[in-house]
Amino acid sequence: MADVEATEAEAAALADSMVRWLVGEGVIMKDPTDCVLGADSGYPPGPNFRSVVIHPNDDFLTLWTNGVELSTGRRVFHPGQGELGAVTCPRCDQMVLLSDPATGSVTDQWQPFADALDSWYAGGLGHVLCPHCSLLAISTIGYGSPGRRSLSASST
Ligand SMILES: [Zn+2]
Repeated sequence: MADVEATEAEAAALADSMVRWLVGEGVIMKDPTDCVLGADSGYPPGPNFRSVVIHPNDDFLTLWTNGVELSTGRRVFHPGQGELGAVTCPRCDQMVLLSDPATGSVTDQWQPFADALDSWYAGGLGHVLCPHCSLLAISTIGYGSPGRRSLSASST
């Protein structure tokens, strides 16, 4: 989850509100523990975590790292494993391939997105020109994936 319209000044209060709501729904536990990677603490799964997953599977409950990490700054999420895939321009609805489906290697279209993500992460606007309509500078935040979310950024 990411609130891409939240300002940095609003982020902490919105995060607290989100935690209270998730705790109230029983999705996460109230007290943070050492249950996430890359952060000091996170929120372990609550008794109703199954209500927010598509394919409930309790196997992860035995893992040390199975919690929800809260982040209130700019952060870029990358698929890590697998291809970048494609994104769709929110203005002209045309697909932009960021990786070649046959080889998995990045396309020439990836570099403008990589530059825009770097700019946005450093505090900039993160604009990238759509290679199809190219009339507007479009934030990478507004790009959506045709099948799945391949690229996302949040400013919560
Ligand atoms: Zn476009």
